[in-house]
Amino acid sequence: MLELATPVQYVKGVGPKIADVLAAKGIHTVGELLHYLPFRYEDRLNPRGISELRAGEMATVIGEVRNSGLFRTRKMPIFQLTVGQGRARLRCLWFNATYLQDKFKPGQMIALYGKVEEDLRSRELQIMQPQFEVLGEAGDGEGNGAEKKAAESLEIGRIVPIYESIGQGRLTPRWFRRAIRTALDDLTPELPEPIPAMVRGRLGLISPRAALWSVHWPEPGESFQDLQSSRTPAHIRMIFDELFFVELGLELKRREQKAQTGIAFRLDDRVRAAIKKILPFHPTAAQKRVLKEIAADMEKPYPMRRLLQGDVGSGKTIVGFEAAIIAIENGYQVALMAPTEILAQQHYFSARRILENAGYRIVLLTGSLDADRKREIRRHIAQGNAQLVIGTHALLEEKVEFANPGLVIVDEQHRFGVMQRLKLMKKSGEGEESRRASLDGTGGSARPHTASAPAEPDVLVMTATPIPRTLALTLYGDLDLSVLDELPPGRTPIATHCVSDDQSPKVWDFVRKQVAAGHQAYVVYPVIAENEETELKAAVKMYRELSGHVFADLKVGLLHGRLDAELKDQVMRMFQKGELQILVATTVIEVGVDVPNATVMVIEHAERFGLAQLHQLRGRIGRGAAKSHCVLMTGGNVSEEAQKRLDAMVRTNDGFQIAELDLELRGPGEFFGTRQAGMPNFRVANIIRDAKLLEAAKREAAAVLAGPNSEISAEEISRALVHMRTLWQHTYGLVEVG
Ligand code: ADP
Ligand code: MG
Repeated sequence: MLELATPVQYVKGVGPKIADVLAAKGIHTVGELLHYLPFRYEDRLNPRGISELRAGEMATVIGEVRNSGLFRTRKMPIFQLTVGQGRARLRCLWFNATYLQDKFKPGQMIALYGKVEEDLRSRELQIMQPQFEVLGEAGDGEGNGAEKKAAESLEIGRIVPIYESIGQGRLTPRWFRRAIRTALDDLTPELPEPIPAMVRGRLGLISPRAALWSVHWPEPGESFQDLQSSRTPAHIRMIFDELFFVELGLELKRREQKAQTGIAFRLDDRVRAAIKKILPFHPTAAQKRVLKEIAADMEKPYPMRRLLQGDVGSGKTIVGFEAAIIAIENGYQVALMAPTEILAQQHYFSARRILENAGYRIVLLTGSLDADRKREIRRHIAQGNAQLVIGTHALLEEKVEFANPGLVIVDEQHRFGVMQRLKLMKKSGEGEESRRASLDGTGGSARPHTASAPAEPDVLVMTATPIPRTLALTLYGDLDLSVLDELPPGRTPIATHCVSDDQSPKVWDFVRKQVAAGHQAYVVYPVIAENEETELKAAVKMYRELSGHVFADLKVGLLHGRLDAELKDQVMRMFQKGELQILVATTVIEVGVDVPNATVMVIEHAERFGLAQLHQLRGRIGRGAAKSHCVLMTGGNVSEEAQKRLDAMVRTNDGFQIAELDLELRGPGEFFGTRQAGMPNFRVANIIRDAKLLEAAKREAAAVLAGPNSEISAEEISRALVHMRTLWQHTYGLVEVG
């Protein structure tokens, strides 16, 4: 008998070698094998007769190989295969498919799936590039008769699951069909039911066992459309399972956070006046609303955990400063952390400009300071002199001790991700504990009693990642969400143009005109993620070209990640003050840099950038009242997908629209960079396709934790929680919850 947790080697036909191939795909257990779902299904219940095919339809055809061969046209080699059913014949073609040359033998049974088309010249029907599967060898004596018949029953005369091959084609769809069938046959009849009856009832969920069977081996009556769109009861059960336990974990975290002791900041007229005093402009309605939400959190006696989401340029920084003033005016210290040193510096400049006049004491603590200076700043922080401490997230790592931390602001800009955020909260808790320990001299071994537990600082995370709201709510389920959905007034939308780089003389002319009009420009060279060296060289080379020739009469600066911090700082400062007119940069400027007088951005090799990155980059301009222009310059081959990205950039400035398209083009895994962001890597769920189920899962998770009551027993709740913890620890590898 197999259990879901049984190692996959124990499935018949899976040896150590195959187990390795499976492990590389994250399949270690029987349960994980059974969660490897077909990516589509083929209706071989009713395969089509060749003579009844119509042009334009998708069809499955099962027939016998008659002949095959490669022929060459002027453009490319084409592989042609003819299958037959009695006297009827159908031609299939594959372009550039020399690899198929020795694949087929006359007499083989083969299943084909694809779109039927009419050949323009001969008017005969054919299928181009069909999916195919060899079902049986012609008279090759493979296996005995009975075995062969059983095997065929998995491939023909039913709805057949099609799995993605893995291990460079070693494990084929056929292999998966057999392995999964065997695993199901040997699976213990008593599968645990971790979802409480109340929830199952409300969603009409079928049992886990029934779901596993029919998701792989659908009954003949199953709706084909539901199968293809993952909407059968079996799919829904499996998807909901996955989402529900993630949401349960997040919901639990959220409750635990609310149960902790926090600081109840006072927000009286004095504090309000202090905020008003620093504001350099009228806040937008969105900024006002968001500050209200933050302030309400800060007044409450439990720690704030809030995500402030706003498109680039929406004015998050000032909102962060306002929150900082609330904390400082209450006698607490504030830490503001940025993902890069440049951005930390940028915040430091703005903070000094905006806050220092009001008498607030601000320090910048970054890794590049010399040891003496660092020590001195640390002392200021530990003694409570420094009220606003700005740094990179090295602030956490370097064991900075705060005298009286009240608020942590993380400017995430989609760089930190959930994982670091969770770590951060832990760290700040630990810092707090060690601070107490060192202050009260207990040496850190004694954990404070709950009654005297130190208050947790509030945390505000600011991000520019435009996640659709429902997704944000569910994915950052342990955070409350505020959205800045309005840009500050007086901005003219950025005009975006896409040109090929053989037009570069014109582009440089344009840049020159803008500079003559008193504006500044960025010229950005792309990340070639896998080769920072090349990127650097390219940027340096371009800098030489631009500063030495094209713009020899202008002041051109160079900024890249390898410059030492002081130089970076100097270059940034000069650009900010307008002492440089053109800044050649790598994507180090992607994050948060704010120079309103810069109105032009030329992005070279724009086809190599992802959409999110292009949008972030473009967000560096259009920050002042003057009209801004973004020029996307392409060099070389532009793939169809790259063209879609560029078109989207030209079409819209709206971060949410761009995010949605990005999501569509890349899929959720890539979009969120799940691994990097510490987000669960779902096996069966797709947060875009399954957004509705995700919301239901969130709702139900909250309902479960609100129990026990007449609908749900304590025992059911604890069973669900035990299951959730195992999943979080083993499957998602996330920090422990609860
Ligand atoms: P982001 O949300 O990308 O961090 P910033 O906080 O850097 O955006 O703000 C972008 C620019 O808009 C800055 O130059 C800032 O001073 C300006 N700004 C922010 N809020 C307002 C406002 N209410 N009115 C006018 N300008 C504003
Ligand atoms: Mg910002």
